[in-house]
Order: sequence, then structure tokens, then C-alpha cells
Amino acid sequence: MNNFIILNKLIDYIDALKFKNVSKRVITELKIVADTIQSLNFDLNKDNIVLFEKYFVEKEYIRKILRELVYNGRCEEIETLLKEIPKSLIKLTKIPGIGNRLANILYKELNIVDINDLKIAIKEKKLRNIKEIGIKGEELINKNLNAYNKLQNEFSYSLGLSLYNFIKDKLEKFCNYEIFLAGSLRRKKDIIKNINLVTENSSFNNIYEILKNTSDFILIDKKDNFIKFKTFYSELEIIINFVPEKYLGSSLLYFTGPKSFNIFLKEKAKQYNIIESVTGFLKIENLTEKEIFFLFSLPFVAPEFRDNWELYIELKDKLSLEYSIKGDLHIHSNFSDGISSIYEIVKEASEMGYKYIGITDHTEDLKVAKGMKRERILEERLEIKKVERLFPNIKILFGVEANIRIDGSVDVDEDILKELDYVIGSIHFNFNETKEVNMKRYINAMNNPYITIIAHPSGRKIGERKEMDIDWKRFFIEAEKTKTFLEINSTLDRLDLSSSLSFEANKYNILFTINSDAHVSPQLSFIKNFGINIAKRALIDEKRIINTYDYYELQRFLKIKRDT
Ligand SMILES: [Zn+2]
Ligand SMILES: [Zn+2]
Repeated sequence: MNNFIILNKLIDYIDALKFKNVSKRVITELKIVADTIQSLNFDLNKDNIVLFEKYFVEKEYIRKILRELVYNGRCEEIETLLKEIPKSLIKLTKIPGIGNRLANILYKELNIVDINDLKIAIKEKKLRNIKEIGIKGEELINKNLNAYNKLQNEFSYSLGLSLYNFIKDKLEKFCNYEIFLAGSLRRKKDIIKNINLVTENSSFNNIYEILKNTSDFILIDKKDNFIKFKTFYSELEIIINFVPEKYLGSSLLYFTGPKSFNIFLKEKAKQYNIIESVTGFLKIENLTEKEIFFLFSLPFVAPEFRDNWELYIELKDKLSLEYSIKGDLHIHSNFSDGISSIYEIVKEASEMGYKYIGITDHTEDLKVAKGMKRERILEERLEIKKVERLFPNIKILFGVEANIRIDGSVDVDEDILKELDYVIGSIHFNFNETKEVNMKRYINAMNNPYITIIAHPSGRKIGERKEMDIDWKRFFIEAEKTKTFLEINSTLDRLDLSSSLSFEANKYNILFTINSDAHVSPQLSFIKNFGINIAKRALIDEKRIINTYDYYELQRFLKIKRDT
């Protein structure tokens, strides 16, 4: 897969453009392209680029960059810009509180060019001497730096998957051994910290040579039974574990984890007089994973259920964990910051077999996303009516994604709210308020009879922004009381609610909706590829997900709150 390289070149480009203060619109659009490439399950090449380009037909600059990257593996414009601005300096501006201006001051006054320099300068208390920073500023930067460093070890599931496909493709091309996925990525965890792979030990020399001699890879560590490395394009580390062929099945089970499940299996194995190897896997020869479950008289637990294996085994016959998604309730069109027209979105959704979709563009407070004022909202309604006539097999619901202000009110007048089929309430700014402020904000919003769904409730962005400070117990109680639905947002770096918060929320009488938050029509596939994994891992029954119901039942759900 070359997608991983293209994707990372685009990410570097976006970061450099941010540094240059280029228009936010361009940055948003390029991020939409990068996210879409990250989610593709086919490799972009000269033959299929036309199919992909059609989604960006009105964006000539995007098509030009894409074509260059796919045809030549490089893009001159990106390379020129990256030569101009050192990557380490760009990284510095990603720390909250250090914008371009401060990064420039740090560079000029203290010759700080990267995070390491910054760390040393903080230790030596040098930052406080800069007029614009002072002692308080120094403390704040230190705090933000620590939080930032923590996030740097966190990568989204989809990024991991894209890197895994890249490695598998590169390695299997040159060696005859299959490389198996294990670890948290195989368990479809929303955040992963590394990639764990398993293969047979006779491939060791072969794989070691490839890694050493291919310019894409950087070796970090190696012993007899593993090689640790990363790629030139990302900090995400990969570990390949080498095991004897006869133990492939039991090793795959072991390296997939999690720890609690391995401890349970080890105890189980004692009853069968099976011992473990020095590495840790059970010495069970020539059996597949499935056969090992059978040997232990256990039902097969798919990797995504292994974090909650106990509950899964107990409830699996009562739960329906295969979701038949009938529609998507969170989609952006070119009426706000999306790229596709309403026509293109409906066409795609109808081809996917959806029975309904909801168009929910941003409203006016979100200026960077072309948030709609009332006239624009009314204009969009007319457009929806027009498109609806062309697609008799799919219903189009009209909503908005309103901004929840700091006091819990939203940026849409009540007479408009009344007219909409439903309303999503979201927080898009002021993420760093105290728990008290955040709770008041959300509680007020949930008590608004027109707010049907709270989208991406925690506000996290994987690798970039931590969750807001929220009393989740109170939050879930209020959602239950007010009959507000909670979203599982499928966007790659959101996955919000996370699977652990979804698991907690599922203990209350709450209904969910899994949405794509698509900003271009191929992103409608986010639900299927990413969002449903969160709900599965949280063991949420299909009946509790409103967009698995047919249109008339869905309409009933959307009216519950207004009618009570
Ligand atoms: Zn949003
Ligand atoms: Zn959205």
C-alpha cells in the first residue's frame, strides 16, 4: 500500500501550511483528503486515481497534488515547502499554547528548534526570562508539553491499519511467509500504541535483510525472537515476533492479548497440563486459534471482544452484535465545510443501500467551517427537497450540527430548531474549561428539547487533544433522564464516544447512534469500517442503536424528546 506514504506526505504538508498561516479552508480540505486516503481499503494507483479524483472534481489544486503523488511518488510543491520549514519547528507549534509567533520567538531568542531544546530550556528555567512568557507562561508550557508528549504515543486505529497494510505489502512481496496481525490493532482498539505482528522464525533473516536494505524502514532493536522498527513516515513502532511454525496459532492468541485474557488462558491451560514457553505463549502444537478455544471448551471470542471476554462469554447468546446500519445521521455537505454536494452524498448513500440519511451542516458560530446563518439554513432545506425528488428510495432528513456555547445554549434560533427533523449538539470550542463549567454546559444543552443527539461528546482528537474534563456518571444520568441520544462518532481521529466510555454509557438506559461525520461522500464508509468496532467492543446491543431501525421507527425516536 502506497497510501500510507501519500497520506503522511499530505500530513506533513498540512502541518507546514498551518505554520505558514494559509487559509483554514485549504487546510480543512487537505485534511479531508488525507482522512479519506487513510480509510481506503484499496491502494491508490495510476489506474484507479480517476475513480478517487471524481470526489474532488471541483478542487483542481487537490487533484494536481494527488496526481503528482500517485504518478511520481513525490510532489514538488510539498518538497519545496518542507525544505523551507524544518519539521522539528513545525512540531513545536503543535504544543498547545505555542503558536507560530511564540515558536519564532523561542527560535530567535533561545535558539530552540525542537522539543528536546524546549525541554532543556524549561529545565534550566530560561523561558521565564522571555518577556512574552514569564514564570506563569513557563509553567503552562511545561504542563502543556507533558500532556502533548503523552498524546504522542497514541495513534488511531485507522492509522495503524494503514501502516499495517503498507508493511505487509512490502514484506510479503519479498518473502514467502505470511505476516499475521496481533496486538491491540487486531482487537480493533480505538487508540493503539504500537503494532504487534507474528510470523514464523524461519523468516527471520529474510525479513531482517529487507528491513535493513529498504529505505522506508528504521531499525530500533532486535533479539533472536523479535525485531522492532519504525518507518520514515511515522513515529508508530512495529514489533515482529518470530515463533516456531508449530506454535503460530497459540502465539497469535498470546500476542493478540490483552493481558487479562492471557492470564485466564494460562490458568485454563494448567488443567490440561499445558506449559508456557519462555516468551509466554502456551506450548500447544499445530492448532489454530479457533481449535485452541475448542480444546479448552470455550466459545470462540473474536479479537475485538477479548478486552471484555468475561462479559462477552456470559452475554453473547442474548446480544445482537452484528449491526445492520440503515442510515447515517451526521453528514456535512458543501453548504458548510464538506466537499460533496447534497446530490453526491445522497447518490452515494443510496448506492450503499441506506434507507435514510441526515444532512447536518455546521451553524453560524463555527466560522472556520462556513457555519450557516438562518438564510443559508433555509436555502439548504430547499436544496434537500429538490434532491429528494430524484431519489425516491431514500429519505433525507434535515438537521444541523449546532454549536453548544459555553452556557449550554446553541447558535440556532428556536423558530428554526422547531422546523428541523432533529438537531445535533456539539462542542467545537472552549475545550479547556473546568469540570463544573463543562457539566453545566452539557446539562443545559441536554435539557433543550430540540437537541436530539450529542455528537463526539468527549471532544478528544487522537494524538492531538485529550478528552474534556467531564463527570461521566452525571453526564450519562442526564442523557438517560432527558432521552438525549449519544453519538459514537466514526471519524478516524475522533472515535468518540470511545469504546471504554461507550461501555460505561451502556450501563444506563441510553440509546446510541453511530455516525460517520463525513465531509466527502466516500467517508460515509467510516461507520462500517470504524464506528461499529467501538460499539462491538463496548458490547452494545443492536437494539440500542437508533440508526439500525427502519425509517418510521427512527422518526419515532427522533420525536420522543420533543413530544415529552
Ligand atoms: Zn462536530
Ligand atoms: Zn460534524
